[in-house]
Amino acid sequence: MQAVIMAGGKGTRLSSLTGGKIPKPMVDVDGMPLLERQILTLKREGVNNILIVLGHLGNVIKDYFGDGGKLGVRIDYYQETQPLGTAGSLPLFVEKLEDRFFYLFGDVLFDLNLQKLLNFHQSKNAFITMMVHPNTHPFDSDLVITDDNDRVIDLDPKNPDRNYYYNNKVNAGMYVMEKGICDYIKAGQIKQDLEKDIVLPLTKTNKPIFAYSSSEYLKDIGTPERIKAAVEELKTGKLRQKNLNNPQKAIFLDRDGTINKSNGYVYRPDLFELEEHVIEAIKKINASGYLAIVVTNQPSVARGLASIDDINLVNKKMETLLGQGGVYLDAIYFCPHHPESGFEEENKAYKIPCSCRKPDVGMIQKAKDKFNIDLASSWIIGDTTTDIQTGINAGMHAALVMTGEKGEDKQFDCVPDIIAPNLDKAVELILCKDDNHGL
Ligand SMILES: [Mg+2]
Ligand SMILES: [Zn+2]
Repeated sequence: MQAVIMAGGKGTRLSSLTGGKIPKPMVDVDGMPLLERQILTLKREGVNNILIVLGHLGNVIKDYFGDGGKLGVRIDYYQETQPLGTAGSLPLFVEKLEDRFFYLFGDVLFDLNLQKLLNFHQSKNAFITMMVHPNTHPFDSDLVITDDNDRVIDLDPKNPDRNYYYNNKVNAGMYVMEKGICDYIKAGQIKQDLEKDIVLPLTKTNKPIFAYSSSEYLKDIGTPERIKAAVEELKTGKLRQKNLNNPQKAIFLDRDGTINKSNGYVYRPDLFELEEHVIEAIKKINASGYLAIVVTNQPSVARGLASIDDINLVNKKMETLLGQGGVYLDAIYFCPHHPESGFEEENKAYKIPCSCRKPDVGMIQKAKDKFNIDLASSWIIGDTTTDIQTGINAGMHAALVMTGEKGEDKQFDCVPDIIAPNLDKAVELILCKDDNHGL
């Protein structure tokens, strides 16, 4: 497999560290150039053919890595003679490209299970797969807008005045591409931007562009402060641990009555209001080694009160509000089904027995497969005995919160490991029980 690394950036924000003598990707990150860390990670993940696109001070990179033999990979180069943006150079070295390749930037530190990304790309038969991830400031990040099948339908670049609810899917700047992309880029010395000039127009065609969402570590470390923070994360092992090759721990969260106030069927955004202290609670989860994953029954779809789009819109409101508070969810799963028929307006397609409706564990199983979750060291937090029973059925620990239904639904005769007044206290107790505080 091949990776193309765009290493031409000038890196003016890093001049205090590079002294203007080395290009940005050669900046030292805990004793090793960032680009060398990238190459070693790529190699470990099965990428042995690397093409580096050089710009400013490209000779420094060439002199350091040579043909890649010392690192056990093959490295080839393309030297730009003038800046061509993030896409302009691709057709100029098309003969060096494999049919399918990873594409990334020289200023990101990452540790990813690339096989999973590749499997996703193949399973979707995608032309381009963009990696996306939730972050702590989606309100001023480049958003990727998808349909509910992960197909990219729009891009919304950094824009402080968003007046709509959105999923926290931020462009991570890591791609899988088919070589055919070069047919959509103007050849010649023409500066072109990958997102704006190439990918965005393609999302308006029938070309399959997909978004792969991951909880793994990938950060642009283009400033001295970010490098400092990243070195800390390297040292604690967080970077490596989040690679989905390694088993993950998760805290599964019920939605209604746990994250948002209990309000009957919450199937419209105006019915959704966050519970108290939820931002603080999820902030603690995000800072720990646990993933934050929502699993929620939404039978209002089967009941005929709401459509799948309605539920997605409420979930977007949830992610927008959480994002404004600087916190994020790693994934959201919902069950739109209900087994019992009998209402006139019901939606027969969803009035079916299923394996995803809690206390069944279908949603948990889906998350387990995607994120390689070790259920025995994971938790569920909810306001009903159904949530607690789900935890027990899945072999997890379970915490009941005294918000929403307060466990008074009496659906199941089961005992939680923890009872807490609210989500924040529940998370605090869980992290206390964990010797490593979740790390
Ligand atoms: Mg609930
Ligand atoms: Zn279901």
